[in-house]
Amino acid sequence: MSCFCRHICSLSNLLFLLIALGTAYLVYLKIHKPAPAKQVHEDKIIFAFLGAPGSGKGTLAKQVVQELGYKQLSTGDLCRDNIKRETDLGKKLQEYTSKGALVPDDVISSMAKEWLDVNTKDGKNIILDGYPRTANQAELLLNMIKTFYPDYKLRVVSLNISDDAVVERLCGRLMCSNKDCGAIYNIKQFVDIEHPVCATCGSPLIKREDDKEEVIRERLKIYTQTSQAVIDAFKKAGFAVEEITIEDKNPKEVFEAFKKMIA
Ligand SMILES: [Zn+2]
Repeated sequence: MSCFCRHICSLSNLLFLLIALGTAYLVYLKIHKPAPAKQVHEDKIIFAFLGAPGSGKGTLAKQVVQELGYKQLSTGDLCRDNIKRETDLGKKLQEYTSKGALVPDDVISSMAKEWLDVNTKDGKNIILDGYPRTANQAELLLNMIKTFYPDYKLRVVSLNISDDAVVERLCGRLMCSNKDCGAIYNIKQFVDIEHPVCATCGSPLIKREDDKEEVIRERLKIYTQTSQAVIDAFKKAGFAVEEITIEDKNPKEVFEAFKKMIA
């Protein structure tokens, strides 16, 4: 017995005993640890896409809607739709556009809010395409999110592309002459064909009047000025502007870059 006691009391055996007990306790914890509560509340995000005409912003938005199930707010589409349906708002919009005047920021903002009220209900992520377009609209949007959609976070994504790359893209752009189709192609796809036709509906393809270099460069100049004001407004409010470099990426590569960004 005294021999056994000496064994147990020796320092090394005591240490061994402690380690064994500790290990057993850890194993017990591992087995009995309650499963972590499932995260019910995922982040809901409103993405504001900024990108020059010809940057492929609309194409990316469409892909994200189709593949990831986001919703897309396009103020341009909303304007056209309201005018077509001759709603009260549509009549107001028609007045401004027929005078060649810009639609005031508060009119755009209330139109966006009306859309967001309906479309934030199911908690899906949202893309803002072509909105906000001015610093004032950006500020109104930030207040709107804070007040009415506090579950949503805003992420600002800028699609960066050089003017030269845009010119090259848009100068080669061909559009389906069938207005109901509106498919867009690039002249590079038809180098050997004299009279290219639409692969979807068979109508002849045409070049848009405003897809001329000087018109495009003027549009880009205006875009750069206005978008910088929007970017400054977001930065001032403490938002980082995330960037995707477009340059010669094709739509698939741009989509991949977006997915990587949100992963
Ligand atoms: Zn077509």
